[in-house]
Amino acid sequence: MKNNHNTTSIKRQMQSKGLRITPQRFAVYANLLSRSDHPTVEEILSEVNRELPISSKATIYTALTVLREVGLVKEVLLEEGVTRYDANVQPHHHFCCQNCGTIIDIEWETFTNLRLDNLPPGLHAESYEVIVKGQCDRQDCQPLRESQNSIVES
Ligand SMILES: [Zn+2]
Ligand SMILES: [Zn+2]
Repeated sequence: MKNNHNTTSIKRQMQSKGLRITPQRFAVYANLLSRSDHPTVEEILSEVNRELPISSKATIYTALTVLREVGLVKEVLLEEGVTRYDANVQPHHHFCCQNCGTIIDIEWETFTNLRLDNLPPGLHAESYEVIVKGQCDRQDCQPLRESQNSIVES
């Protein structure tokens, strides 16, 4: 579902949001559309750099900000201090593996009977998102090393 994006349809989507297409913006958006692992800026950078070696963390971040402002990309904050990015901007939930850190999209319809009318009086919900924490069933589900978890300083 996520992998049948071609250059033309990606450019069309960007243009429909009034975005000027730059090589950076295109590379970042195309990369995000091709994956569903909710990468960090650093993870996007290392992949984009294979095709566009002129990229820096700052240019990737700038491209992400623009894409986010027009609603093509969403920030996902599931762990403290770690910002991840998602090209799936439809409402959906996330499953977070506590062992390997894998984040999996969960369809919106999975939780149909969440009772938002049980909120304390005076609170009006506008949106919500469920984060399910647990253990995934990937073959290579391995505990994360500490160094992969920490933020790269630069
Ligand atoms: Zn997601
Ligand atoms: Zn796992």
